[in-house]
Amino acid sequence: MLKNISRRDFLKTSAVMAGAVFAGTKGLSSDQGAVAAPTNHWFKGNLHMHNQWSDGEPLPQWAVDWYKSHGYHFICPSDHNIFQSDELRFDGFRFENPPSDRDAFRGQTSLWKVISPAPGWPKLTQAHVDETIERFGKDSVRMITVGGQTYVRMTPFSELETQFAEPGKFLLIPGYEQTGGCPNDQQVHVNFINVREVFPYITAETPKEILERTFAKGLEVYDGQQYLFTANHPLWRYYDYSPADLIALPQIRLFELNNNDIAKGFDAHPQGWKPEQFWDVVNAYRAAHGQSLLLGMGSDDRHSYSEPPKAWSVVRAASLRTKELLDAISAGDFYASNGLDFEEIQFEGRTLSVKINVREEGRYRIQFVGTKKGYDPSSRVVEVEKGPRCPARKIDVYSDSIGTVLDSVEGTEGAYTLKPDDLYVRAKIVKVAENLEPDWQSKPAAWTQPYC
Ligand SMILES: [Zn+2]
Ligand SMILES: [Zn+2]
Repeated sequence: MLKNISRRDFLKTSAVMAGAVFAGTKGLSSDQGAVAAPTNHWFKGNLHMHNQWSDGEPLPQWAVDWYKSHGYHFICPSDHNIFQSDELRFDGFRFENPPSDRDAFRGQTSLWKVISPAPGWPKLTQAHVDETIERFGKDSVRMITVGGQTYVRMTPFSELETQFAEPGKFLLIPGYEQTGGCPNDQQVHVNFINVREVFPYITAETPKEILERTFAKGLEVYDGQQYLFTANHPLWRYYDYSPADLIALPQIRLFELNNNDIAKGFDAHPQGWKPEQFWDVVNAYRAAHGQSLLLGMGSDDRHSYSEPPKAWSVVRAASLRTKELLDAISAGDFYASNGLDFEEIQFEGRTLSVKINVREEGRYRIQFVGTKKGYDPSSRVVEVEKGPRCPARKIDVYSDSIGTVLDSVEGTEGAYTLKPDDLYVRAKIVKVAENLEPDWQSKPAAWTQPYC
């Protein structure tokens, strides 16, 4: 069993869940001593994706079906600044198309978008309507033509759930992505997962202030609800928020280690942190100060579905239920992946042991990564001028003593015992290849959470 502070909380929850799971099971009673721990399973999911509810290319039902038919167990359709509710609307993220005759929509619900004659992000095109009709039949897309424009109804979350959710097989979790940034256009995006109410984006002078105020507002708006807050894609568009921001905000527990789009459009600065190092910088500080460690998620954040997803998360839980998945994620019982899988991850005493679920022959390597006590926490600033592929930025550059390979094992099973001078350890598994990239671009790879 994993043993860290958050894990202890998780075990308490698990005990309650175990009671619930077995409460109605015939033939078992506690006095017979026959109550076994529930068997845990790995569930693959993606908690960050887009569809035509905001600026993703496909219609919602096509997008949800894609995940269901590609081996995912759970998803959160997290569109920009909107929840897929029944409310009748004609505008949203970067579009506004009120009809000339609103009477044509009397009694209608949900969001209606106009089919654009020209393609281009983030427009709804006839091609995406056609692909949905081809997949689900002509009745699957509702359209109304008024004033020479054809409006298409976006399927709301409740109907997507009815159409696609299957107990134990496929789960939809409600949520959305808050999207915006500072006056200098440093973008700060966060996901609220397992909520159905949207509050307006909070703009402030610095990314830290946006994160801090948005996190606090979430506590107020979603008081009493179980939800997740994730700090998204720090490197996209270009060093938008820094490790120092999450060092200053220990209440933020989840960030996107791996996100499809971070490599698009902008190049990581040769001296600047990469997402894995970002993670280690924050966790070196948190571990040294007795704080809860930052957990790293894999998300694909897909807008276009023409390429395969580049990251996802795999969560260990007794069953495919929202509460259990959220409990497990909050407790760090999950890993991020872009192609490899763990069969086992255990942190017992001070030893992290992992086993790769080998699906393909090849050479595998397990790297145990961590930071030593006495590391150099200082950083210096590199100023980057505005260029064709980047905005002007000040980038924090950190010491190489943060996030080092503590041990490396060639093979599919390995273990590392924390030494007295280690602050924490995490494992990364890779399939060895000549062109293996470092940091988050290693592929195929998977990353455990950090343990201490
Ligand atoms: Zn985003
Ligand atoms: Zn997004």
